[in-house]
Amino acid sequence: MAIVGVQKQSVVLVPYPYQGHITPMLQLGTILHSNGFSVVVAHTKFNSPDPSNHPEFTFLPLEDNLSGFDTSYYNTLAVVAAINENCKVPFQDSLVQLMKDEEKNGQVRCVIHDPIMTFGRSAANHLQIPSLVLCTYNAVYMQTYHTILQLQAENCFPLQESRMLEPVPDIHALRFKDLGIPADIEIPQPVLEFFANVSNLGSSVAIIWNTNQELDHIALSQLQRHYEVPFFPIGPFNKMAPPSSTSFLEEERNCMEWLDKQDPNSVLYISLGSLASIEKKELEETAWGLANSGQPFLWVIRPSSVNGSEWIEQLPKGFQEAVGERGCIVKWSPQKEVLAHSAVGGFLTHCGWNSTLESLCEAVPMICRPCFADQLTNARYLTHVWNVGLELENVTDRVAIEKTIKKLMVDNEGNEMRKRVLEMKQKLETSIQKGGSSYRSLNELTEFILSFPRKEY
Ligand code: UDP
Repeated sequence: MAIVGVQKQSVVLVPYPYQGHITPMLQLGTILHSNGFSVVVAHTKFNSPDPSNHPEFTFLPLEDNLSGFDTSYYNTLAVVAAINENCKVPFQDSLVQLMKDEEKNGQVRCVIHDPIMTFGRSAANHLQIPSLVLCTYNAVYMQTYHTILQLQAENCFPLQESRMLEPVPDIHALRFKDLGIPADIEIPQPVLEFFANVSNLGSSVAIIWNTNQELDHIALSQLQRHYEVPFFPIGPFNKMAPPSSTSFLEEERNCMEWLDKQDPNSVLYISLGSLASIEKKELEETAWGLANSGQPFLWVIRPSSVNGSEWIEQLPKGFQEAVGERGCIVKWSPQKEVLAHSAVGGFLTHCGWNSTLESLCEAVPMICRPCFADQLTNARYLTHVWNVGLELENVTDRVAIEKTIKKLMVDNEGNEMRKRVLEMKQKLETSIQKGGSSYRSLNELTEFILSFPRKEY
């Protein structure tokens, strides 16, 4: 449904400034913009998005006072706390300005914030503007927060190691091992507080999900009973939104020319997303697994993603000579285009939710190498619910890696997965077309936002 009218209606987006979160928030912005809304993106100066990629949006930089702060991944909880503390007042002031300048910016209808960016909700609430949450992961992962908090209240943690393979109560197909945090050790109090904050909706009036009834039906309906606010599962955003670049790192487009020279379905694409890092041993064993598999491969190795090295200095001696033109290594790829290329036949992935959706939408079966958080739950669903992915059982054993690659790329098992993932792709496409569940939810979301009473300031 598109909006018809004279006065612009605007939504204010508050993304969490990491690649896997900012991408779906900006995609949601383009979806809402295509449906007639003006879009304002209120963002931290730290990891700020590039406005030139979205000339249709208004960007509102917020003073985050993070310069000099340790923003490494290991300090995430402190970064989150600092952003929420430092950005609330600047955001509130900016919202007031936006509303005063309604002629230019349109009527501010609501704030849509990442669940981690709770300052977005507090400021909106203070000004009596409705706020909605955008969940950038799936509903199964949100369920794990509830279950962990519940089990913690019952003093169940740490679990005995022997129980890690037992099923998690009330979450379809998940074992304790797949929860996203190690359940066999004491869970630190700040982590529990983080889970409690993120899963608490506070004054927010709805949840928008970058997921889909096809993928997440059971978890969505279980969570719906808990939250009792409207849910709008309108994913997959990567297909709903018109294509645009949201990368922080420069995309090395020359790999597309290399892909053009490869046979259909022959290339294994490898990427562990924007945050995960690996040890030297895993780099070496992966390299030899790839070399010995005989398959062409496109490998993303981000700078500093191998512990103790700047880029690829620790690749084993003789590896590059052994693979020659059969391998292509880049620092960052145009991943959505790579997965859509006919030469790509498999994806060795960390199973981040965006990568998972992008691969499913291009019917590319996966080898799953999850590292942390929702990657573990996603990997479990890929390998044991949707059956479109293989588990990589030992990441430091070149023979196991080679065998898994061959199983996916050459053997019948891989072919069967390719057929199943094609069916999933078709179902996902249907869901975003007229009459599909995500299409309907998007119309309902538009109507919902427009139903909020106009706020004067
Ligand atoms: N990505 C990319 N080029 C790369 C590697 C990743 O464009 O070389 C993109 C990928 O398409 C996805 C995002 O980075 O949209 C990673 O998000 P995901 O949720 O998969 O993982 P995270 O980075 O949050 O761990």
